[in-house]
Amino acid sequence: MTRDANPVPAASAPVVDRARTVDLVLAFVVTFAPPVALVLGLGLWYTGALVPGPTEFVIVFCMHALTILGVELGYHRLLSHRSYRAHRWIKIALVSLGSMAFQGPVIWWVSIHRKHHRFPDKVGDPHSMYVHGRSGEWTAQGAVHAHMGWLWSRGSIGKGGFTELAGDLYKDKDLFWIHMHYLYLMLATFIVPALIGGLVYQTWQGALSCLLWGGFVRIFLSNHLTFWCINSVLHGVGRRAYDTDDHSTNLAILSLFTWGQGWHNNHHAYPAAAVMSHRRWELDPGAWVLFLLSRVRLVDRIIVVPTDLASRSFKPVKTSVEGQPVRPMPLPSAKESP
Ligand SMILES: [Zn+2]
Ligand SMILES: [Zn+2]
Repeated sequence: MTRDANPVPAASAPVVDRARTVDLVLAFVVTFAPPVALVLGLGLWYTGALVPGPTEFVIVFCMHALTILGVELGYHRLLSHRSYRAHRWIKIALVSLGSMAFQGPVIWWVSIHRKHHRFPDKVGDPHSMYVHGRSGEWTAQGAVHAHMGWLWSRGSIGKGGFTELAGDLYKDKDLFWIHMHYLYLMLATFIVPALIGGLVYQTWQGALSCLLWGGFVRIFLSNHLTFWCINSVLHGVGRRAYDTDDHSTNLAILSLFTWGQGWHNNHHAYPAAAVMSHRRWELDPGAWVLFLLSRVRLVDRIIVVPTDLASRSFKPVKTSVEGQPVRPMPLPSAKESP
């Protein structure tokens, strides 16, 4: 998408140590600040000291929808899997919104996710509950690890580092810039709701209430429902439409909060497809957005799964997740047709 290339950086020991410290600080903040804020918000509501109004709930809904759209369509379908092509400004908008979801900077997120697809529920998967402790079986400790405990682990990325897993992203100057300015986008995710609250209520209490609910509580709900539930719940609870070589599942209710990623077993069967719904009744709001954008020519080359393939038994096709050319899906032969 871009012509200018950044040199792929080589990490020295102090840089690696600093990165580890930053990882731990962010893990601490994202683990503890949102639940503390939720308890505080509920306490203030219960005592009548700070009662949230419709504005707070509209901000929670809109900011959840926009930031998770950025994660699912930007971080995930566009960059991790290259499952469609986007106009430069759509790419920038989606990745910037994704960076405001408090799920980590883009190159880190993509690296973790590509590694998950490379070793799904196997040794090397950064957040599999089945290989935590290398027991190979489900354990409660493993479930905690899959949900968010993995954020604290050393070596989630592994030997080759970011450059081996997401070297292509370093070469995109827009993505590299957004990655390096993650801190500002993280601050913006709190400043925006506080500003809206200040403007709507014209009081400091209004700004504070919107910061609490639209910032911290929204991040609590968004990250538990999307980022972490996909890694934990959607590798254990739900229906398996495809016999993939991992434990991924489909769970309709989660697709509503995740722009379609609730169809996680479908996704593991066809990682390169931009459409997560493989059957008529499966809702994938993220794909609707993509088709809408394609109508106005802001995205193209959307990789879809042939609809009639989804209803028959087949061997799942493994496709590249690292920007390599995607192998075509096998089309049903005449003999196989009903
Ligand atoms: Zn998965
Ligand atoms: Zn994926």
